[in-house]
Amino acid sequence: MHSRGRTGRARAHSSRRGEPRSLQAIPRGRTPRKGSIVTEFRIAQERKLEGAIPGPKSQALTARREASVSASLVPAVPVYAADVDGAIIRDVDGNQFVDFGAGIAVTNVGASHPRVVAAVQEAASHFTHTAFGITPYEGYVAVAEKLIEITPGDHAKKAVLLNSGAEAVENAVKIARHSTGRNAVIAFDHSFHGRTNLTMALTAKNIPYKDGFGPFAPEVYRAPMSYPYRDGLTGAEAAARTIDVIEKQVGGKNVAAIIIEPIQGEGGFIVPAEGFLPALVEWAKANGVVFIADEVQAGMCRTGAWFASEHEEIVPDLVTIAKGVAGGMPLSAVVGRAEIMDSVHVGGLGGTYTGNPVATAAALATISIMEDEQLAARALEIETIVKTRFEALSAELGENTIIGEVRGRGAMLAFEFVEAGTATTTKKPHPAAVKAIVADALSQGVVLLSCGTYGNVVRLLPPLTITDELLNDGLDVLEAAIRAQA
Ligand SMILES: *Cc1c(COP(=O)(O)O)cnc(C)c1O
Repeated sequence: MHSRGRTGRARAHSSRRGEPRSLQAIPRGRTPRKGSIVTEFRIAQERKLEGAIPGPKSQALTARREASVSASLVPAVPVYAADVDGAIIRDVDGNQFVDFGAGIAVTNVGASHPRVVAAVQEAASHFTHTAFGITPYEGYVAVAEKLIEITPGDHAKKAVLLNSGAEAVENAVKIARHSTGRNAVIAFDHSFHGRTNLTMALTAKNIPYKDGFGPFAPEVYRAPMSYPYRDGLTGAEAAARTIDVIEKQVGGKNVAAIIIEPIQGEGGFIVPAEGFLPALVEWAKANGVVFIADEVQAGMCRTGAWFASEHEEIVPDLVTIAKGVAGGMPLSAVVGRAEIMDSVHVGGLGGTYTGNPVATAAALATISIMEDEQLAARALEIETIVKTRFEALSAELGENTIIGEVRGRGAMLAFEFVEAGTATTTKKPHPAAVKAIVADALSQGVVLLSCGTYGNVVRLLPPLTITDELLNDGLDVLEAAIRAQA
């Protein structure tokens, strides 16, 4: 695996040397962390607006989309990507946007990282598919080995690879049910686990994810989440409340699995109070319940560690991984205790495309970039820059602030907006402010994502390779957009 990483890097560098001058790479504009490798970008990492947004070419593509794509699918941003590199999205009209979404926490190593591109090209030139369940190949095994190494805990582990986050969650639940012989699954308020039938049942929010799509999978029970800004409970108090609901409404001996995002994503980047997760892990262990950490959004260096579970030193029985794992190629995984993973009969897990050879090559490159460029440490630098700035802004706005809370870990950061004057009292959600801020930022060339059960959260998910200059430039735009609403 390590030699594969070195080969990929050497290849990326040598191909770069042969490029014409105008395409030469632009060095990253920040001080590298000690000992980390500095990569280069094809597209200048700067915001650039050429005219109206959306421009004429994007408008023409929107017309074609409306005529051909289901009306259900309305992209959040009305511009069409033409070329994306690092943290810059260049659209078909030549505008350059700062990417604060990373394709929903996917391009953590930056879009079109040269080592991911080289790995994909190399793999595709040999074969794009065989079906691992028919004719296996090394890349799948190598990714399983690597994920076993980087997931929490040094117990014996096994892995299975899949395509999407939802598919990983479905498989984690299948495995947990098979290994325990039980049915019930506990999910949480504000949770998001996917859009397939079982994962819709696990997901909390009705609009847009569930409305009219039932009936949902049975034996899914919802328990209260720890949401410190809104419930004011300590981790221990919130865990006691949750465990009481599970014991009274379901019964520990009926529970196959608890599934939880260690930091909730779509629900609003909710970081549970300290002690909440460890108390649930302990209860699960005492009751023979499989504890599944859904790290699909929070994993892969996003929060300043390989996995968000590490911040509270919990060791989940199973971990689901997707989004950031393969630099944008569709790949997901369930990794966990060997005895649980091995409890399933031969042939019980799999799928036609699962662990695709091009995607596994991308994953191996992505993981070694994360190691070489020390992207977990970079996520913590991003946290400091953002939190310092926006906690100061909130303090400056004083009693009338609309920033209820700045929260998150690493480069998984969010601002929860509330109506002015309610930040410490009724905390009245302010989704209109979020809509205005997101639209304002877009008009200035910054792509921002919103989230939250109440639609009142702006989330920051920049590629971890973003330069300090570009990060601060995007934050200037965000700050001005917030001031305009405050
Ligand atoms: C995005 C997400 C999923 C679903 O992943 P897909 O690849 O969209 O199916 C599941 N769990 C969490 C926590 C997510 O953020």
